[in-house]
Amino acid sequence: MVDSSCAGTYVVRKGDTLSEIAQRFGTSVRTLKQSNRLRSDIIRVGQKLTVSSVGSQVAEVRRSTARIRVNKKKWKYIVVHHSATPYGNAKAYDRVDRSEGMKNGLAYHFVIGNGRDSRDGQIEIGRRWTKQLHGGHVSRWEYNNHGIGICLVGNFEKQRPTRKQMDSLKSLIRYLGDDLLGGRYDFLVHKEINPTLCPGRNFPTREMHRMFG
Ligand SMILES: [Zn+2]
Repeated sequence: MVDSSCAGTYVVRKGDTLSEIAQRFGTSVRTLKQSNRLRSDIIRVGQKLTVSSVGSQVAEVRRSTARIRVNKKKWKYIVVHHSATPYGNAKAYDRVDRSEGMKNGLAYHFVIGNGRDSRDGQIEIGRRWTKQLHGGHVSRWEYNNHGIGICLVGNFEKQRPTRKQMDSLKSLIRYLGDDLLGGRYDFLVHKEINPTLCPGRNFPTREMHRMFG
């Protein structure tokens, strides 16, 4: 059943569908309909829905972001990376980045696990997000200073991102970009900023641009 501690209110916007809202909050159409006593799939703009984010990776990001003051003017880009390693997690990358002289540690704001050193699709929240610090993930100041860096664990020159990683990534971008920044952001992958293979040829860059502009 619905865990009320994770529940919130969502106001339906133009173009929304129940299935899309369900996906965004990591829940199902069935659960949404039950918790809102809806008899059909029809929703209208402005309608308030009770959404439960049980099981959603983004729910934890939402909760922890609700406790901080987000510097909305600062963030203009969402930049996606792969780790270029088959394993790792936020803690491991933090150690590497510190050993390479980054005093703020983990260069990314978020790390999405692949089931090796963190759960498949798990979103780890970096200190740079909770402290609203600039990233250290690209070698152009504009994008480090104004870009939210998200790293997916894996080497996507060789492997593919897992389905759960992609689901978490899409939900995270919808939350950060649409809900938090009101759509005022550019979606980019690392190789569009610097000459690099990141996030690898198997990352669905074109599909992601179709979804996120
Ligand atoms: Zn990168």
